[in-house]
Amino acid sequence: MRFGRNMLFDPEKTIIRLFEVSKHYGETDALVDITFDVRRNEFFFISGPSGAGKSTLMKLLYLGEPMSSGYAIVDGMNLTRIKKKQIPLLRRRLGIIFQDYRLIPGKSVFDNVALVLEAAGVASRREIRDRVMEVLEKVGMADRPDVCPPTLSGGEQQRIAVARAMVGRPSIILADEPTASLDPESAETIFDLLVAAHDEGATIVITTHDRYLLSKGCTGIVYLKNGRCIHSDGVDR
Ligand code: ADP
Repeated sequence: MRFGRNMLFDPEKTIIRLFEVSKHYGETDALVDITFDVRRNEFFFISGPSGAGKSTLMKLLYLGEPMSSGYAIVDGMNLTRIKKKQIPLLRRRLGIIFQDYRLIPGKSVFDNVALVLEAAGVASRREIRDRVMEVLEKVGMADRPDVCPPTLSGGEQQRIAVARAMVGRPSIILADEPTASLDPESAETIFDLLVAAHDEGATIVITTHDRYLLSKGCTGIVYLKNGRCIHSDGVDR
């Protein structure tokens, strides 16, 4: 039994809880009554065909969009009641990766990653340098901190995006179709980096319809279709 608002809520174990969450864009029902839990340190997939509502669900989790109705808790923060000034606090607990990388083209690789720490109020230049170089090392991009993203391949840009997602040591990494624009080899590298972040303790939530990723296995999965959850699977607890 994975689900239900009345299920005992233990914030030590449950990092995301959605209960009957819906999102409407005008007449379009992008999501209808979505209910599921993600436990701490899960490697969790949200799958389903194009237009199913996967990206919309991600946007609700990082409050890129407000829900229309329902109830959601993300790492202890109640998204239904969250105040505007608390949103940066929520975002600091999240690392977000997009299909189209979303790096700042005119800033160096180093600065793209450093921005996260600056926004979080890390004042020490030395700490920023050490932490940025540590994550660039992890993603295999420490040799090119000064180049700008447009000179890099898609796979390399996504590695920088993973570094940016990891540098703030977030409790949750949200990856929205992270390999959809990549060749198979780069996709594998990105997947391996997400596995490494998971091994270090992060909760990973990935939207994907990529058979390669789905074949790699996970601890839990929900399938969406036309905005509805049509199937879910996971380890009982
Ligand atoms: P997926 O990520 O699974 O491809 P999306 O979450 O992007 O699906 O879209 C789900 C549904 O919501 C689609 O019907 C889409 O057209 C609609 N939708 C998504 N974003 C918007 C928006 N900003 N305005 C209106 N409709 C939207």
